[in-house]
Amino acid sequence: MAYIMEGDKPNHSLGEWLNEIGKHPISRLSKDDNTIALEDVQPEIDFWQSSVVAFVIGASPPVQVMEGFIRRIWKQYGVDKVINLPKGMYLIRLNTMENRDKILQNERPFFDSKPMILKPWVEDMDFMQDEIKKIPIWMQVSVDFKYWGIRSLEKILKPVGDLLSLDAVTTRRERLQYARCMVEVKFNQDFPDYVEFKDEKGNRRRAVLHYEWKPILCSTCHKVGHSQQECYHKKETKQGQKQWVRKDSENNQGQEKEKVVEPRRVEAPKEKITTRTTPSEATASVE
Ligand SMILES: [Zn+2]
Repeated sequence: MAYIMEGDKPNHSLGEWLNEIGKHPISRLSKDDNTIALEDVQPEIDFWQSSVVAFVIGASPPVQVMEGFIRRIWKQYGVDKVINLPKGMYLIRLNTMENRDKILQNERPFFDSKPMILKPWVEDMDFMQDEIKKIPIWMQVSVDFKYWGIRSLEKILKPVGDLLSLDAVTTRRERLQYARCMVEVKFNQDFPDYVEFKDEKGNRRRAVLHYEWKPILCSTCHKVGHSQQECYHKKETKQGQKQWVRKDSENNQGQEKEKVVEPRRVEAPKEKITTRTTPSEATASVE
């Protein structure tokens, strides 16, 4: 197929048209030569080199929403483009490689409490979401604030995952109800409501945990972020009729509630989309 270049006059005569094609590199190709050379793709590779590929675990917001979000949280990085890729992924091009590297080193964004996974764009990208084994989540830890030091929290939270950082409010000790911690966890692991630990005097103590979001896998639709009981995807019944599994709207803490065995048809709730920025931008690193 011939290229229609911008500025092409639509009313070429055949002679003009052939002449035009003659100037174009496409004419160098013999009929059977459709092999792409590195030099053919290098300009595109160079252009996209300063990009990251991103996706949100358990959500795929529309690209306009994602673009607004990205431009707001990364305004200091010179975001050039935010583009939809297949499978709920986004290509984010930064103005410079330096800014791309800063993002990859320093940023762990969360969209609607869900972690956003970032990878550098590479030319042979085989970006499988299944490869992701561990992800960060935010959780609130209710425990006496003398245990809010990183060393204590690391030990207390060990049964759940690895402590990555504390939010700025926690670090500055400006809110004493709970410590807000970013913890690296696995998909579908146990997310206990509390953990017990032995304090410095040998007494057993309990830290109550609240997860802002949990990466649990739904065994019905195999998506992340809700349990089977909360799933609103349709299931086939034996009779071949469609059936909905009820989503318990009050079950927003992800607590286990009794199974809804009775098939009731309910409207699939729209995916909640917010562009709230979590305090992830201002975190104190553990390292
Ligand atoms: Zn589901």
